[in-house]
Amino acid sequence: MSVKPITLKGTPVLHAKAREVDLKEIGTPKFRQFVDDMVETMYAANGVGIAATQVGEGVRVFIAESAKGPIALVNPVFTEKSKKMLSDDEGCLSVPGKFDRVKRHKTVTIEAYTIAGEKITFTADGFFARILQHELDHLDGLLYVDRVAEQKNAKEEETKKRGHR
Ligand SMILES: [Zn+2]
Repeated sequence: MSVKPITLKGTPVLHAKAREVDLKEIGTPKFRQFVDDMVETMYAANGVGIAATQVGEGVRVFIAESAKGPIALVNPVFTEKSKKMLSDDEGCLSVPGKFDRVKRHKTVTIEAYTIAGEKITFTADGFFARILQHELDHLDGLLYVDRVAEQKNAKEEETKKRGHR
């Protein structure tokens, strides 16, 4: 296993949509090695999640720290998101030293493949749901700072609309 360098904001791979993993790739030693390296890199950086784009690979896989330890999710998609949103502080290994409040869905249901190539689905809540949303955003080329900017704009628009009434 080896710790990989973490890509920083401004690196093109971090701002692009990652490609789906071919299911035939999942079982290969190369892919397993890649996932192991991501876990090691995440722990070395004291992270609770890491996406492939953060180690320079534009593929749809991320690691998230769960109550049972790290899990790797391949080609993840949300099949449900709660209407209820929660605001909390968030940081990112690719934007070191910064934290800001981001609104996220309180609960999300995710569908993905495990590194054994098995399709799974589960519902996550609170902090774990936040990690999943942060990491899946990475695979779409979005950083939490982009979400912060987007949410600030939406709030300003809303204030403007109210002001005109
Ligand atoms: Zn991040």
